[in-house]
Amino acid sequence: MLPVIALVGRPNVGKSTLFNLLTGTRDALVADQPGLTRDRQYGYGKLGAIPYLVVDTGGLVDDAQGVEQLMARQTLRAIEDADRVLFLVDARAGSTPSDHHIARNLRRLGKQVIVVANKAEGLDATSAAAEFYPLGLGDPQPISAVRGDGVRALMERALEDVQATMPADAAGPDDIRVAVIGRPNVGKSTLINRLLGEDRLIAFDQPGTTRDAVHVPFERDGHRYLLIDTAGVRRRARVEEAVEKFSIVKALQAVDTANVVIGVIDAHDTVAEQDASLFGLVAERGRALVIAVNKWDGIPADKRDEIRAGLDLRLPFLDFAPIHFISALHGTGVGELMRAVHRAYEASMREMPTPELTRVLESAVQQHQPPLVRGRRIKLRYAHQGGRNPPIIVVHGNQVQHVPDAYRRYLSNVFRRNFNLEGTPVRVEFRSDE
Ligand code: GDP
Ligand code: GDP
Repeated sequence: MLPVIALVGRPNVGKSTLFNLLTGTRDALVADQPGLTRDRQYGYGKLGAIPYLVVDTGGLVDDAQGVEQLMARQTLRAIEDADRVLFLVDARAGSTPSDHHIARNLRRLGKQVIVVANKAEGLDATSAAAEFYPLGLGDPQPISAVRGDGVRALMERALEDVQATMPADAAGPDDIRVAVIGRPNVGKSTLINRLLGEDRLIAFDQPGTTRDAVHVPFERDGHRYLLIDTAGVRRRARVEEAVEKFSIVKALQAVDTANVVIGVIDAHDTVAEQDASLFGLVAERGRALVIAVNKWDGIPADKRDEIRAGLDLRLPFLDFAPIHFISALHGTGVGELMRAVHRAYEASMREMPTPELTRVLESAVQQHQPPLVRGRRIKLRYAHQGGRNPPIIVVHGNQVQHVPDAYRRYLSNVFRRNFNLEGTPVRVEFRSDE
């Protein structure tokens, strides 16, 4: 399971600077998706050998009321779910009462914390660190987030004994890994129970046996699937627990290991910022996505068009994801939904031979030439597949660093149409032959 790193600290110590650095490798991909409001709080990253999930918990304000009241529920959850907490302090400012206040709260939460003395560029490392020993959270690690100094060493230390292991389960190598995500009470567990079937659920809920398995195999239309339930949705007893157990971090961990994500929305709600950013992160991680608009049974016929139109408006950056209107409660549309999940899986794993990719590229270029750069035309020569899940198409040519985003999107849509890539993000990368 993907290790989770939480960034904590008072305002202005450099959390978002460090966050950007830790997730920066993906910035380009995100910029590629118009309409996506970049979620500044959660991000996937990899610096060194081990990939991770970073959460910026925002400014922890100095207040005597206690950290629980001050933090939004999800912030506290993120710290609870984190494998490591990076507690940022400002090496130039020295330790402040706010730092001590936060340190007390972190000690109480009993998390593994590394004190990070940021803005340490040009300072004597030993004395920069010494200033923060009294926080009582161990050896401070000096870094400079703006310059990137010490960040690699910090992450090595943070991820040192975080095991990137998967829990043992009965999965076969060909099982299609499915994660069901969405806000509380949209109907995730109702859908999961329907997919797994009542008998199955009872069998898995036997105490002491597989009850705590987070991966549950099931079969549908002759295909083997594996449900990834990191959030404990499946085991939930009461509806009220939905809010209690809801964890964005766990959802994003499930997304990371999934082949296909089912993003569930309640047809009665307008699509909220939280849906958009949660599903946006699915796209950022390159996972196939099918959107299920649930509780369709409760929507009168004359309201349905309005809801359909609203969805397109709110989720434009997810145009690759098919939308299905279902009733998890009655089972309506669930069969179609799962067929779309399977198609999305196949699309994400599609093999695209170089000659065919190149032929599609040539005809795309013929129909719509790339622009001139300083009087010279960008030349795109051939394309090959650079990866699967998500499909990566590498286009070779000259002056490719000047290809505008709009043209990259055009190509990506052409490839999508020609190779039937519905349901999966597609990445088009350019490589210079010069
Ligand atoms: P946050 O409020 O904790 O998210 O802090 P920001 O990341 O927004 O940074 C606050 C200010 O500190 C900004 O002006 C940053 O440019 C600056 N800053 C961040 N990291 C460093 C650093 O390593 N060295 C110096 N000198 N300034 C930094
Ligand atoms: P979760 O928090 O996303 O797992 O949501 P639940 O599966 O616990 O469902 C929340 C509530 O919505 C429960 O009362 C369900 O019975 C109800 N619900 C779920 N799916 C449907 C549906 O398709 N139609 C209707 N009318 N209610 C549903």
